[in-house]
Amino acid sequence: SPSPARPERRERLGIMGGTFDPIHHGHLVAASEVASLYDLDEVVFVPTGEPWQKAARQVSPAEHRYLMAVIATASNPRFWVSRVDIDRSGPTYSVDTIRDVAAQRPGAELFFITGADALSQILSWKDAASVLELAHFVGVTRPGYELTNSHLPDDTVTLLDVPAMAISSSACRERVADGRPVWYLVPDGVVQYINKHHLYRPVSSTSS
Ligand code: ATP
Ligand code: MG
Repeated sequence: SPSPARPERRERLGIMGGTFDPIHHGHLVAASEVASLYDLDEVVFVPTGEPWQKAARQVSPAEHRYLMAVIATASNPRFWVSRVDIDRSGPTYSVDTIRDVAAQRPGAELFFITGADALSQILSWKDAASVLELAHFVGVTRPGYELTNSHLPDDTVTLLDVPAMAISSSACRERVADGRPVWYLVPDGVVQYINKHHLYRPVSSTSS
């Protein structure tokens, strides 16, 4: 006799967008914690293309940021890196990120992971209303920022305490520029990639 129909469980997919210049253990712990608590099948890290909110500073080439994310996530069977934002021309908007990832994973239930600082900016994002419809938002704690979902509808956003990692990409870049170590702030392979490609070094004052 046919086995009783078992409702197929929808795939649960986390999306973590970021500049990842470079990816660090704050990103990885946040993704890991959300994956565990939300029973996610996978988390996709999506490095931005041209980050429109960071136009003021020079962002490292997308290919470097992509490869560091690949190196950092390679050992985790549930972590992946997507090229959707870096392969799309023009500035990155989260609404496009989510739509493109969704198109590649039809039927998946989407969980967009953001740190406290990014969450507070959601309403400034392009097409904020459809962004909130496409995915459930998980706002995670981040040292130095207040985590609040004020102005955001309760049913679309959940706030979550994750282990506090007082790490930022900006601080990592500054440390490298100052000749200070980033060991243990970023994965070992990322330290080595930064050194190999001379990323974040101060522009050398070439004598003429
Ligand atoms: P930058 O200093 O260049 O802005 P960043 O460390 O903030 O870099 P982003 O790539 O801007 O890293 O962040 C990507 C996502 O990861 C954002 O949602 C951000 O809030 C979150 N995030 C970054 N660092 C942490 C951290 N230490 N703890 C929790 N969430 C974090
Ligand atoms: Mg940031």
